[in-house]
Amino acid sequence: MTTIYILIGTRPNFIKVTQFKKEVAKYPNLALKLIHTGQHSGAAMADVFFEQFQLQPDYFLNIAQATPIQQIAAILVELETLINTIGKPNYLMVVGDVNSTLAGTLVANKMEIPLMHLESGLRSFDNTMPEEHNRIVTDALTNCFFTTEEVANENLLAEKKLAKNLHYVGNTMIDTLVAFKQNIDASTILDDKKIIPTTYCLMTMHRPSNVDTAAGLSVIVDLIQYITSTHKVVFPIHPRTYNNLKKYNLLTLLEVIPNLLFTEPLDYFAFQKLIKHSAFVITDSGGVQEETTFNHVPCLTLRNNTERPITCTLGTNTLCNADNIKPFIKQIIEGKYKKGIVPPLWDGKATQRIVEVWSKL
Ligand code: UDP
Repeated sequence: MTTIYILIGTRPNFIKVTQFKKEVAKYPNLALKLIHTGQHSGAAMADVFFEQFQLQPDYFLNIAQATPIQQIAAILVELETLINTIGKPNYLMVVGDVNSTLAGTLVANKMEIPLMHLESGLRSFDNTMPEEHNRIVTDALTNCFFTTEEVANENLLAEKKLAKNLHYVGNTMIDTLVAFKQNIDASTILDDKKIIPTTYCLMTMHRPSNVDTAAGLSVIVDLIQYITSTHKVVFPIHPRTYNNLKKYNLLTLLEVIPNLLFTEPLDYFAFQKLIKHSAFVITDSGGVQEETTFNHVPCLTLRNNTERPITCTLGTNTLCNADNIKPFIKQIIEGKYKKGIVPPLWDGKATQRIVEVWSKL
């Protein structure tokens, strides 16, 4: 029997692991436990996803909302205690690039548990991004690498990782989109919010480089003012962004824009339905760059770099800044923007391929 624990902690983590239990059930020699750190908690950022995916973490570390260091420290202690209680797995798998990923990596290393990394090898080569440090440290200590795109394999090989430990399996975030297609299509968000399909821009912003300074937030406010002159903007606000808009007294400026629809962070089905039927998306999210590519929806990413370059080379994504974004918006409105193709192995079967690897360990 091979026992694997998957450690998850944030909204994008939850979305990447929805199909594992179902796949593992096909293999009598595999046992899987899901451990949720609590890095993201509460109804909108956590509970609603577990409800929609009918996914129950087997263990919840229940760490408090605190600074990154306090959260990482709490996960180290709580995860060690849990593993000492329930027993060591054969492998621990961490997901993505968040603080829970880093904490899980350190625990695996110190407890001598072989480590797997889901969504390994992505690099923005931007050392100002907290996630980049998490990716590098995690991959430095990983034994088994699961990758979503060819460039990730190249990055890992350039870092002298052994080819035999790399598994190019595709994108489990797309597995979730495929598995829940009917639920997404059934979402009533467009009617509920009186949004007309293909007439609006969907926006999400939460990266520190965009939302932690008054200058960064002003760019976003200007952009919203510009777009709302022709299009409705639907903006589900991440808690970090909301708090900073408030802190810099910018919320009141946005509240009076008639064509702007602010919402709480949305549930998965509603948010995916909004992506699918939008005219275009403006974001700084990692996952949203991939989901728009899969849906052939134009995506303008307000960042200088991306760790997911295939969304630009094959998909519908373009990296933009305040100075060059407007011509791209014009291209989209005039129907001249690229349509993109879906990257290899983004076919809804990545989880299946990973579990097949597990079954042969
Ligand atoms: N998402 C969601 N509701 C929202 C905003 C985002 O369900 O209101 C989903 C989105 O579709 C994607 C994931 O959350 O699957 C991305 O999370 P986020 O942008 O927070 O993290 P990142 O991908 O940048 O790490």
